[in-house]
Order: sequence, then structure tokens, then C-alpha cells
Amino acid sequence: MMTEKELIDQGYRKYSGEAIDIFFNGSVCIHSGVCVRGLHDVFDTNRRPWILADNAPADEVAALIDSCPSGALKYIRKDK
Ligand code: SF4
Repeated sequence: MMTEKELIDQGYRKYSGEAIDIFFNGSVCIHSGVCVRGLHDVFDTNRRPWILADNAPADEVAALIDSCPSGALKYIRKDK
């Protein structure tokens, strides 16, 4: 598990939430669409910001991010 500083240093951008922070690196993303199809309330490319970490339970967000095929999405839990 990487620290926030390591993620930022590697080019990830932070999208803060209450229970979980989401990190995204657009140069790593392969545009598979797993995130927007899986949790559309959190990941919506037609919205700015396109990631809203609090729009689903943190467990669901974490599980979805674990299924991102490229590693472009990372998270840091703040509730456990
Ligand atoms: S699931 Fe991962 S690789 Fe697929 S579009 Fe989302 S961020 Fe990109």
C-alpha cells in the first residue's frame, strides 16, 4: 500500500472523501470503463470533478478500485 506522498509523487491526483480518499493517474488509465460502469455515482466523466469519493459506501469504492485493471485508481482508507 502506497502512501499519499508516494502516489502524488508518481503523478496521481487526489479526490478526497470522508471515509476514503481516491487517487487517479490519467497516464496509467487504459479506459476500460470498469469504474464508470461499476459505480457511476462516484465515477462520472461528464461531471467535474469526475470522481466524488463520498457517493458510495467506502467498502464499495475500495472493491471497485481493486478491480481497476490498470492500477490507475488507488485509494487510502481513512475509516479503518
Ligand atoms: S477502471 Fe481503471 S483503467 Fe478502467 S477506466 Fe477506470 S481508471 Fe481507467
